[in-house]
This record gives sequence, structure tokens and C-alpha cells, in this order.
Amino acid sequence: MTAALAKFKKPDLRSMREDRSPAKVEIVALSKSYGRQHVLHDISVAVVPGEIFTIMGPSGSGKSVLLRQIAGLETPTRGTVTINGLNPCDPTTRDRFALALVFQAGALFNSLTVYENLALYPLERRIYSKPKIRELVMRALQILSIENAAHKLPAELSGGMKKRVAIARALVMEPQLILYDEPTSELDPIMSATIAEIIGTLKEQFSVTTIVVTHDRELSLTISDRVAIIHEGRLRTIAPPAALRHTTDPVIQDFLNPQIDIQHPRFRKMEANHE
Ligand code: ADP
Ligand code: MG
Repeated sequence: MTAALAKFKKPDLRSMREDRSPAKVEIVALSKSYGRQHVLHDISVAVVPGEIFTIMGPSGSGKSVLLRQIAGLETPTRGTVTINGLNPCDPTTRDRFALALVFQAGALFNSLTVYENLALYPLERRIYSKPKIRELVMRALQILSIENAAHKLPAELSGGMKKRVAIARALVMEPQLILYDEPTSELDPIMSATIAEIIGTLKEQFSVTTIVVTHDRELSLTISDRVAIIHEGRLRTIAPPAALRHTTDPVIQDFLNPQIDIQHPRFRKMEANHE
């Protein structure tokens, strides 16, 4: 293990949280269309509290769309999403579970420092005093080994640092559910491995349910308890990584074959069908 990782494992945020259990996520018969474009078809998934559940598929397969339905940012065309039995789109119930979304591009406020970006949510919620917020933010930065970036602006950070800041910001929300959108995109293999290890460590240290959407085979096969594969907007399979390696399904075999480019158009075919 690298020195940086050994350092980030030391601090422990658990003491700062109320006792919360990891969230249960259920997706039932979900379809999503934009006008005549049918992106997701009849997806059903039950994510077990505390697991790392990865949704894998090529670019354009609907992963980010699915994540937006889970986060309650959009309403499914058909079917339902529930988090601990509650509808994430319903503003009156949203406060009853803690959800953090780590966006692909970080979604940091460019005019705010890293510290200010992290403190924004707890300041707005007004549930903690300023010293407590400071403690929460500094410990999240410490866990991700980015204390030195506290007073930098996002524009001054590398891609890998931005991802860490985005994860630190999620931690400050003391989530029961963390959703990651392409956490390793645009990162080199070493930084990708670091992010994979961070995701795994956060699962171990906090009671949190983790959903990752990614086209990164390596990432999904290393960190996941279970992997769901999306192909042409439909769920092709859900299986633990070890079971996927023994699949006889040719589509999944191609997915897992490093010789094959899953970004190839043959995997990107979107059905413009009419249900
Ligand atoms: P990815 O798997 O790469 O994350 P997305 O979920 O972003 O793919 O997109 C899946 C498909 O849905 C794409 O064809 C995209 O153009 C389409 N799509 C996504 N968001 C919208 C939207 N708001 N309106 C119309 N089409 C959309
Ligand atoms: Mg995406």
C-alpha cells in the first residue's frame, strides 16, 4: 500500500455521525424515455444495504440516466425507485435518508475553495455549529489525503485531485448511500487504483451502500460485491465478479474481454423502438 493510502486510512469519521444504517435501494420495472428515445427498459434491481453495486455498460448505454433516477433528480417514465422505501423524487421525504452523488465531472463550484465547497452543504443544512463543520470538513480532507488542497480553487487541481475533492464532499454529507458516476474516468491507471481503494475503504469504514456506474471493467471487477451489466438499455445480468468470469453469455464475454473495445458502436446501438 502506498504511503498516501496508509495515511488516509487513519482518521475515522464514524464518531461524528449519528447512528445510521446503510440504505436499501429498490428499482422496480423502471423505464426511461426522452420523447421517442427509449433509454432504459424494464430495469429491476434490489441493492443490498452495505454492498458495492456496480452498474457497468459502454458509453451511451444509460448509466448516468439510471443514476439520475436513483438520486431522484429525474422521474422514471415507468416503474419506481425507492430508498429505504421512500421515493427519492419526493422533496418531503428526501431528508429522511442521506444520499451523496459524486458526479463524473466533480460538479464543484469554481469560485469557491475546496474547503468552501465541502462546507457548503452542512452550512446550508444548519445542523452543525461552525467548529463542528470545520472538524467534519478537515477530517474528510484528511481521509482523502488532500488537506493541502483546502484553500485551492478547483481550477488549480489535477483531475485526480478533483475526484478526491468530490468524494470528500460526499463524505461530509455523512451518507447512507453514495452514488458514483464514472469515478475513474480520465484518470491514469495508478490514480484509478487509488480511487478504487478509496471506494472500498469507505465501504469498510462507514456503514454506507455504494452504487457505482462505470465503463471501467477493471474497476467494477475489483471493487464490486455484485455487478449489473446494461446492454442496449436493458439489464443483461447481475452477478458477483467471480461468477461473471465464468459466464457463457457471449455479450458478457465480450464485455469482459480486454481485447474488445466496449466503446465500439456495436455496443452503443440505441433502440429507437416504440413500446
Ligand atoms: P452513459 O451510459 O454514457 O452514462 P447516458 O446515461 O448519459 O449514457 O445516456 C444514455 C442515452 O440517453 C444517450 O443516448 C443520451 O443521449 C440520452 N440522454 C441522456 N440524457 C438525456 C436527456 N436529458 N434528454 C435526451 N436524451 C438524453
Ligand atoms: Mg455517463
